[in-house]
Amino acid sequence: MVDDKIRGMGFATQCCHAGQACDPLTGAHNTPIYQTTTYAFRDVDHGAKLFSDAFTPEIGLTDGYIYTRFGNPTQNALEEKVAVLEKGEAALAFSSGMAAISSVFLLIVKPGDHILADNSLYGTARDFLIQIMQKFGAIVSFTDFSEIENVEKSIRNETKVLYFESPTNPKLKCVDIRAVVKVARNKNIKVVVDNTFMTPYFQNPLVLGADVVVHSATKYMTGHGDSISGIAIGSRLFINELRCLVHNNMGGVISPFNAWLVLRGLKTLPVRMRMHQQNAMTVAEFLKSHPAVSSVNYPGLPEHPQHDIIKSQASGFGGVLSFELKGGYDAGKKLMNSVKLCTLAVSLGDVDTLIEHPASTTHAVVPREERIAAGLTDGLVRLSVGIEDVEDIISDLKQGLEE
Ligand code: PLP
Repeated sequence: MVDDKIRGMGFATQCCHAGQACDPLTGAHNTPIYQTTTYAFRDVDHGAKLFSDAFTPEIGLTDGYIYTRFGNPTQNALEEKVAVLEKGEAALAFSSGMAAISSVFLLIVKPGDHILADNSLYGTARDFLIQIMQKFGAIVSFTDFSEIENVEKSIRNETKVLYFESPTNPKLKCVDIRAVVKVARNKNIKVVVDNTFMTPYFQNPLVLGADVVVHSATKYMTGHGDSISGIAIGSRLFINELRCLVHNNMGGVISPFNAWLVLRGLKTLPVRMRMHQQNAMTVAEFLKSHPAVSSVNYPGLPEHPQHDIIKSQASGFGGVLSFELKGGYDAGKKLMNSVKLCTLAVSLGDVDTLIEHPASTTHAVVPREERIAAGLTDGLVRLSVGIEDVEDIISDLKQGLEE
């Protein structure tokens, strides 16, 4: 369903229907995978109008397609669905979360501009800001966004973007989105939020006043670990500019097949997220009471330092948690080698449980002091809790934690 009526309907209905109508040509109930690179123009004037519209952000492509790097019906179905779910005017799909994030920065920032980002970002996003944005003349600095005074103090005349995730990875720190928006107000600063961990089911940063939302759709949106994909959501003008000025030139386009996989995944987002959260809460309670565990980071626990903040801005706590093992590095390694149901792997948001121990795996090559300064202590384990029967997840962890 693509008309405005869908905006007034419930979230689960939107997940099933938004952006998707039966194929007008064949009646196919599911959106087809439009596996085509190019499109026939009706005549020369039609082709000329499409090109002119595509490069006029105030208009954008509405009367047909040119070439799949500019847009494609399967991609567009996904974009319309996610725009509705995130309560934004428009969305643009990308080949990965990083393609979405990097493109948003490339549109907003010019040499000399300042980017202020949270000090706990997804590693590659942090690396992109340092390695690429700085290389092209942007000034980048980091601070702890969970203390709003830090953000206030770090703003400069040149600041153009405030960027953060909430909750963050892997400590599950939460940022008060409304408070950050208030700091940016009337200063021509864009607030960009990575909403990957929460998904639009639990949290809508645009409703809280953010300007742009980005997602690694690779995670919960696809949900089954079978598509690398990303999406950005914002005003129609911003998204049209992103498409014609950055996306078209950089080419980080999602394939029609991957767009279709995300579309399919999104239909079950509410049921999956409810189950992820229910299981995560049960696993968090189990870990809290386990003698081998010294602390558990899960924003759903009342003792989490930002529990009240997440409750004030989101309707749930998500499915990712982390915990600290008393036995440090060796205990983490032993747990990783002992689990049988949980998979030792990076990524998150799949239907099955993924576990990782940064110190012995993903961050093993990072010098210990650097790793610890980034919050990745020797005994820290991250769990993306799946939707399996929770007793089976717990019994796997229990046997892995045994002496
Ligand atoms: N944002 C967050 C919070 C992530 O966890 C990730 C990947 O793990 C990304 C962005 C990057 O997404 P992708 O791997 O789809 O490029």
